[in-house]
Amino acid sequence: MTLNHDQLERYVAVSRARFEDLLGQMVEIPSVSMDPARSNDIRRMATMAKQVLTDLGGEAQIVETDGYPIVAGGWTTGPDQPTVTVYNHLDVQPAQEPEWKQEPFAFKNENGIYGGRGATDDKGPALSALFAARFAVEQDLPINVRFLWELEEEIGSPHFTDGLKNREAIPRPNSVIVSDTIWIAKGRPAMPYGLRGLIGARLTLRTGSKDAHSGVTGGAARNPLAELMDVANACVNAKTGEVKIPGFYQDVVQPTKAEIKSFLKSGFQVKRFKEAYGFHSLRTDDPAEVTRRIWAAPTFEIHGLTGGYHGPGVKTVVPSHGELKVSMRLVPNQTPEKAFALLNKYVAKLNPDIKVEREGMLHPFKGSFDGPYVECVRRAAKAGFGKEPAFIREGGSIGAVVTMQKAWKVPILFLGLSLPEHGYHAPNEYFDWGQASGGMKAFAHYFAELAKMKDFG
Ligand SMILES: [Zn+2]
Repeated sequence: MTLNHDQLERYVAVSRARFEDLLGQMVEIPSVSMDPARSNDIRRMATMAKQVLTDLGGEAQIVETDGYPIVAGGWTTGPDQPTVTVYNHLDVQPAQEPEWKQEPFAFKNENGIYGGRGATDDKGPALSALFAARFAVEQDLPINVRFLWELEEEIGSPHFTDGLKNREAIPRPNSVIVSDTIWIAKGRPAMPYGLRGLIGARLTLRTGSKDAHSGVTGGAARNPLAELMDVANACVNAKTGEVKIPGFYQDVVQPTKAEIKSFLKSGFQVKRFKEAYGFHSLRTDDPAEVTRRIWAAPTFEIHGLTGGYHGPGVKTVVPSHGELKVSMRLVPNQTPEKAFALLNKYVAKLNPDIKVEREGMLHPFKGSFDGPYVECVRRAAKAGFGKEPAFIREGGSIGAVVTMQKAWKVPILFLGLSLPEHGYHAPNEYFDWGQASGGMKAFAHYFAELAKMKDFG
């Protein structure tokens, strides 16, 4: 079964008006999951999403959870055919940034530049994949395409695990494709196959009931901030970033040479990286080393040290307590449980008075770097965008991905459509027709590739 390219080109061209109309309607619903005052808008978003799926000819339902619902639906045309689930989310980040040049929830379409909060993260990509599925169905491709649209992604997917337990509404597919990631540079498709995990911790130390005068008590009094800094220094080498917690690196799987080579083909540039994040200097300027460090190596980061005096000048107190806020980014095969246990044990040995509390936890994810599904993504991206994608890892975490992997144990692939300039989580977010139309073609080809697969598990 090969796709009729002319028909696909024509389909994409005639779909443009409808795509723009629907994207506009979706963007104008301010589905900010972080803001409790927007809960009605999240409901409206779910209702509209269900309507869009059914209007395009699929079936759809709103799956309730203890939080916001999940919208599930799509086309099941044959039980013996492979089933692919496309994951996107339809909740968005808040949009209070003063830099917005337009009303963030009023859709603006300027010659195929689609401005508005959620346009690229992740409503535009969701809709692009949906239009592709509609084409696949019209072509009678022997594949079932299901959609899973979450409404709590931006708040860490707190009810997604429970939602997936509803096997009737959300059946286990043969594979998953996630479209919620960003290329490294325009014109160079880059698809992740791995994500880092995360474990946060608060280290608190109280050595007295109130702050004391350093002239009267200093020398004899313990200083909790100094003691916390001592522990921080024992955990990480500030110059190199090397984590010094015993056993921390034990389970780390090093990236292969082929992986590093692929990272370097992604369009990553140290100079652009520095500019984008406003860095004056880095720990290293070697691109292979930078990409390895941000995508495939674990970290120990210090986010804050509180306690003592923060006002103008110097107030000579001996603080009575302090708090050190840290986190560790983790890579396969580390686990947040073990990383926390190692930290806890080490701190207890260094300074038994310090209390260590866990905060937030995400497992790292590693999909396949090669194999039949990766080949499908490779061919699909090439067909949609005219260029082979580079396979990279992401330094951040997407909780829902790990949840799906645990629940279904099926291959999870990524086909992201967003560009760095689209402004993920930033003011003046936009999406564009170039990425949308390329995305429709790429997804249509992806579905066709999957339909050809003999052994889909
Ligand atoms: Zn997103």
